[in-house]
Formats: sequence, C-alpha cells, structure tokens
Amino acid sequence: MAKQKLIAGNWKMNGSLAANEALLQALRAGLPQQLSGCAVAVAVPAPYLAQVQSLAAGSPIQLAAQDVSQHDAGAYTGEASASMLREFGVRYVLVGHSERRQYHGESDVTVAAKAQKALAAGVTPVVCVGETLAEREAGLTMEVVRRQLAAVIHANGHCISEIVVAYEPVWAIGTGRTASPEQAQEVHAVLRLQLAAATQQADRIPLLYGGSMNATNAAQLLAQPDIDGGLVGGASLKAADFLQIIAAASV
Ligand code: PEP
Repeated sequence: MAKQKLIAGNWKMNGSLAANEALLQALRAGLPQQLSGCAVAVAVPAPYLAQVQSLAAGSPIQLAAQDVSQHDAGAYTGEASASMLREFGVRYVLVGHSERRQYHGESDVTVAAKAQKALAAGVTPVVCVGETLAEREAGLTMEVVRRQLAAVIHANGHCISEIVVAYEPVWAIGTGRTASPEQAQEVHAVLRLQLAAATQQADRIPLLYGGSMNATNAAQLLAQPDIDGGLVGGASLKAADFLQIIAAASV
C-alpha cells in the first residue's frame, strides 16, 4: 500500500481574522470529511492558532505552527514554547525554515534544539533543509543538506523516526522557480539514505518537497519515489490551488 502523503501549507506572515475564516471555509467545503491517502496541515501565524484550531475542528485539517522556542519557559520575550503550542492542538511545527535561518540567524544547532523541544512536547517537527543558489552552483547541495540534517539527527538520537523533513531549495522558495522532479528526487534519496543510517524506520519518515509547488507541478513532484508530500507557501493561501495539490497527493 502506498504511504500516506502529507501536504502542509505555510501561510508565513499572511492572514487576518476575516481572510483566515474565508480560507478555512473554502478548504472545508472542498475537502471530504475523511481524506484518503493524504494528511493536510496549515502552519499559521502564532496569533491565529486559537482561531484556526476552532475553524478546523471536526475537519481533516491539522494545525501547525511556524516556529518554536528552543527553551521551555522564562525570559524569552516574543517566543512560544512547544508546550504552549501543544495546548492549542498544534500537531506539527516548522523548524529551520530558510527564512528563519536567513533573517533570524538560526544555526543548525538552534534548529536541532527546537526539534528536540517539539518532540519532547509531542509536536512533530518539520525540519526544513535546503541550499542557496550559490551553494547549488558551487556543487555543495548535498553537503549543505546533509550537514543541516546531521545536526538534528545528532541531537535527537532514536527519536529521529518521529520527525518530518522538508527539502526546500532556497532558490525555489517564493520565486516561481521549482526544482525539477529529478533534482528534488536526487536530494530526497540522499536524505533518505542519511536517515537510514540513523534509524531502521527511515522509510516511514515523510520527506516533503517545498519551493514553488503549485497546482500544475505538484503531481509530477509527488510521483517521485522519495517525495512523500509538499510544504506549500504561496499556493496554500489560495483555496482552489491548495485543494488541487491535495487532490494530486490523494491519488
Ligand atoms: C515555503 O515557504 O516553505 C515555501 C515553499 O514557499 P513557496 O511555496 O511560496 O515557494
């Protein structure tokens, strides 16, 4: 039987009470009560977790957060802990998104610590890895993604089988430029092998592709043997497009 795919939307810093309600209503109207072959999540800005938790209740749409603190509690102004996210029914949290690495200076060690806190609270970390264009052009793609993932494997030991990994080439995020299915598969196969060296459960770890996935290119990307789903930014804000990607993952 084919493994269940995961389609996760990343709303980034977009939305409003009214827009979120309209989007969730449209998604609910377009989704069957029970999804087959595919799980769906939306990673929403922190202030909207409670709203989206209640808008998604009773639907197959699961709640995700976009970041988590590497600390448990205390004097960390602006941060939210994994246990706080858990209180809002958060099922997944993105860690190490390239925008966090780039604009907030998150290191591989910080990302690994965030993944650890999420796992300890029962929230599944979606560990984002990916190379910049300069790194790809310098032939460093595999070295970069392997280094980013190695930090998380090192910090999390046997719990590593509980994570999700998202390969997101930085040059493909929000640019309209997608990795070809072959380029993405090549990296996913390397990540799978790296996970297999750390756990016997590597085959169950969902490996998502992210970077300008849309209604047109999703099916081909999702048909690759090691692509188990998608992390979808821009297209997740448009109900019709997001529903088409979900449909492509549900076949
Ligand atoms: C993302 O933000 O994780 C992402 C993949 O964005 P986009 O789909 O817009 O490239």
